[in-house]
Amino acid sequence: YDDRDGKIWLDGTLVPWRDAKVHILTHAMHYASSVFEGERAYGGKIFKSVAHSERLKRSAELIDFQVPWTVEQIEEAKYATMKANGLSDAYVRAIAWRGAGEDMGVASARNPVRLAVAAWEWGAYYGDAKMKGAKLDISKWKRPSPETIPCHAKAAGLYMICTMSKHAAEAKGCSDAMMFDYRGYVAEATGANIFFVKDGEVHTPLPDCFLNGLTRQTVVQMLKEKGITVHERHIMPEELEGFEQCWLTGTAAEVTPVGQIGDYTFEVGALARDISDSYEKLVRA
Ligand code: PMP
Repeated sequence: YDDRDGKIWLDGTLVPWRDAKVHILTHAMHYASSVFEGERAYGGKIFKSVAHSERLKRSAELIDFQVPWTVEQIEEAKYATMKANGLSDAYVRAIAWRGAGEDMGVASARNPVRLAVAAWEWGAYYGDAKMKGAKLDISKWKRPSPETIPCHAKAAGLYMICTMSKHAAEAKGCSDAMMFDYRGYVAEATGANIFFVKDGEVHTPLPDCFLNGLTRQTVVQMLKEKGITVHERHIMPEELEGFEQCWLTGTAAEVTPVGQIGDYTFEVGALARDISDSYEKLVRA
């Protein structure tokens, strides 16, 4: 992704894509002092754009730094980046981090906080899984306790176990992994939330130790508007066997039906398809 034409917004200016570089002694690279957003634009408009910018600022505060730009300025930066790259359907990545400077220890109060925005075309996150249903592995890594890490921040440090889980899944021919939490409850995938269907009702894990995704919130609302009962609750592993349908939600994943998690299978059923289609219509409305 580094050697290509285009522009990246970096600390207030659009720089050539290839020149959007940071120093090796960047604090974030050593200590994970970095937060980011994943957003999608449809027909030139970023879905829930302001909510993403607000979450970026909130994530930074949760890991103890301030993004030195307002939500309005971040909004401008995102649209300027899309325009500079001639994009209308795009994935937008905003990232804020503690940079290089006087401090190189764990503390970093004197180093500048930096902000960048990149945007590019990114098709379906799970390839053709929207039709067939994605195949998920079960990760050996657990979502950590809220007492061990600020788990509601979209922060780089929370993704180390996600990358490891996803690599292990891909090595087994799966497209992602489902993770349990520190108590053993069903949590989420490595970059998406999870939903299940049983007897016409929907069950989704309570987001008390992982990101309550904007797509998750949109889909919960959508289900309620359709008159479908949604249970946000703790889900035990032994319940997986009884669920009939399953899907993932996320900005990149959108709504992707799941066909298999470990040895458990699910049908790509009518509700999964309906929610996937309704979401597609909503983001383009
Ligand atoms: N969980 C994790 C770990 C994620 O990375 C994402 C993607 N941001 C989500 C859930 C879904 O969040 P959203 O719907 O806001 O994209």
